[in-house]
Amino acid sequence: MIHEATRCRDIPLSVYGLSWDQAAGRACAACGKPLTTGAVSRGWWYGNHGNHRLDTELWVCPDPGAAQ
Ligand SMILES: [Zn+2]
Repeated sequence: MIHEATRCRDIPLSVYGLSWDQAAGRACAACGKPLTTGAVSRGWWYGNHGNHRLDTELWVCPDPGAAQ
């Protein structure tokens, strides 16, 4: 689904349907890979689901080539 040339920082994100790790910034919000160093912030995202506030800062993988 994700092309090699596609950067996670360019993939449209949603606060809905994220895993706990993604919502907590421990995993890429685009592809779900665990983040280590060089993660790129996509900024704060806001949403509500019933009584639950989903405000969170989302992080994605570094650009391909920038890592390693
Ligand atoms: Zn990613």
